[in-house]
Amino acid sequence: MSQALWGIDLGGTKIEGVILPSIDRPDPLVRTRIDTQAAKGYDHIVGQIAALVSMMEQQSGQKPRAIGIGTPGVLDPTLRTLKNSNTTVLNGKPLQKDLEDRLQLPVIMANDANCFALAETHWGVVKQEAPGARMVFGIIMGTGVGGGIVMDGKIWNGRHGIAGEWGHNFLDESGGPCYCGKVGCVETVISGPATERYYNRLTGEPLKLKEIVTRYAAGSDPAATKAIDRLCHFFGKGISAIINMLDPDVIVVGGGVGNIDALYTTGWEELSRFIFNNRVEVPLLKPRLGDSAGVFGAAALVADA
Ligand SMILES: [Zn+2]
Repeated sequence: MSQALWGIDLGGTKIEGVILPSIDRPDPLVRTRIDTQAAKGYDHIVGQIAALVSMMEQQSGQKPRAIGIGTPGVLDPTLRTLKNSNTTVLNGKPLQKDLEDRLQLPVIMANDANCFALAETHWGVVKQEAPGARMVFGIIMGTGVGGGIVMDGKIWNGRHGIAGEWGHNFLDESGGPCYCGKVGCVETVISGPATERYYNRLTGEPLKLKEIVTRYAAGSDPAATKAIDRLCHFFGKGISAIINMLDPDVIVVGGGVGNIDALYTTGWEELSRFIFNNRVEVPLLKPRLGDSAGVFGAAALVADA
């Protein structure tokens, strides 16, 4: 049986598949995709995944020994059903079992932030800049805020399957209600939409985050300065809780919001105010794998399977 790593990234609009020769050779043998067509329902999505696996078998001339699947949302370790997915037709469904029955293979699942952290650990910025790191905390800051913990090269899932879900830690009441039913989650305070909402409250002007950042950099708009300073303040404050709790060797900050340079200067200074230590040594690194991290991380799930 081949040692190749088969990974699938299940997204709301596209399902992407990759076959990597081995953990030491991440140059894809096959990389392909199919539409999710989520509106056609759960059974259809299961069928699309099976169709993608057939395509990958045809293109590679190989059969998988197991498949790693990255999804939005997490598998509940007790109920064995998916939860917290923004592709809502998947919630409450036993996706892992249904796929194992359909494909007659072991299926290993993890959420997209965990896959991101795993891929950057094995093949991305952690491998390149902090190769001795034992604990990696990966963050995706974009429309939402997700996080994942990698310990000794493996995802740490936790008792409830929610380890690393920093986006739904309480941060500040000013964030308001979250889709998860709580108030003031990290995601409601420092996601892209949260910063756009804050700018809109200050000015009455709906402005995209990218433009707010441009105006911040130019120093031309006091409201933009205030919005990004606030983002940096709460980024530092939020991250300090992770470091006090886990003290990871490295933190990888991905997603569109993670690209904002001020996080690594002003945000860093804010972090140093809140951390329970007299200095900050943990590197905050930008990821290197781009959009590939999700599907590569899914493939990494089967490395030990
Ligand atoms: Zn929440």
